[in-house]
Amino acid sequence: MAKTAVEWSEEVDRRGDDLVALRRDFHRHPELSFQERRTAEVIAEKLSAAKLEVRTGIARTGVVGILRGDRPGRTIAWRADIDALPLTERLEAPFTSGTPGVMHACGHDGHTAIAITLAQILAARRAEMPGTAVLVFQPAEEIIGGAEPMIAAGVLDDPRVEEIYGLHLTSLTPVGQVQVRPGPSMASADAFEIEVRGKGGHGAMPHLSVDPMTAAANIVLGVKHLVSHEVAAQETAVVTVGQIVSGTKGNIIPETAIMRGTIRTFDDRIREQLRTRLTAFAADVARAYRAEARVRFEGGATASVVNPEAESEFVRRCAAEVVGEANVHAGRPVMASDDMSMFLRARPGCYFRVGIQPASGPAPHHAPEFEMNEDGLPVGLAVALNVMRRALAPKPS
Ligand SMILES: [Zn+2]
Ligand SMILES: [Zn+2]
Repeated sequence: MAKTAVEWSEEVDRRGDDLVALRRDFHRHPELSFQERRTAEVIAEKLSAAKLEVRTGIARTGVVGILRGDRPGRTIAWRADIDALPLTERLEAPFTSGTPGVMHACGHDGHTAIAITLAQILAARRAEMPGTAVLVFQPAEEIIGGAEPMIAAGVLDDPRVEEIYGLHLTSLTPVGQVQVRPGPSMASADAFEIEVRGKGGHGAMPHLSVDPMTAAANIVLGVKHLVSHEVAAQETAVVTVGQIVSGTKGNIIPETAIMRGTIRTFDDRIREQLRTRLTAFAADVARAYRAEARVRFEGGATASVVNPEAESEFVRRCAAEVVGEANVHAGRPVMASDDMSMFLRARPGCYFRVGIQPASGPAPHHAPEFEMNEDGLPVGLAVALNVMRRALAPKPS
């Protein structure tokens, strides 16, 4: 018979210190997207030591560990992202980032440590483990660049993965709480660049030039209209222009103005609608000022995270067994994006959130003062373990 949840949870307690030490090691040595070489080496070394079959260099710096249990069962993947952010950490601790300008400010160090420890526990119990666990360590989540090439490299196909799960630690939620949200959970993201092209000239003689800045200013004001008047009021979307670059001097009308921004929404149709309309809108407004606008979408694009109902309910039950029914909530959808969405478009599964809020209160992700309450790490590990061992078991027919 398989061990009970209690016996498995003893494994989590026993490895608690190692889990924290591992997270601190990754925290001390953060690496940017697609540069996670040391991180990948540590992952591969730990997985090899636990006798997993290890594949490295997938989508450049990704790692996959495959663990075949001795009992028959299903093939289930667990995904962790491993990259850090271009920030200089403000926290002073023995494990503070040792690389100026790079910092684990999103909790991916914790995701990586949890996934490794999860693999170690399952490996130690291989004799009683059903099915095949595929541990996916994805690079470059922060630039929305790692998931698609990993899928293209076949990580879900060899062996054939049936479902995929993963967690994101969140400092907005207290330790001991888990959020499992069925349906749209995180927004899609589309980074865009608008190039407005006019005709340069003397600031004193605008009638002899075509001013791209005036056109750009009207485009910025107008894009808000695309959400307020073209997206149905019960739906949600954001179009933000976060950067405008133009001009060199107060009395020179420049030739171009460049704007960069992002579109966020939860619905594929609205995503497509806004991409199409932004392109036409910018061109038409520019034309009204005798300028030209070209909209380009490049990199940094991903679909919304949508958790299927059945797998979400499954994870909700698994989490409730660990933290109690009262501590599992749906939470609110967040406008942040995560390319776990691409895995969830390829296979059913669920991406859920685990609380790591510091005692001092919420510390924002992607900020130099980001901080993690490490007491949340074993909670995440225990839920992950429960999800995996239950999902790996053969489905009752
Ligand atoms: Zn992030
Ligand atoms: Zn993240």
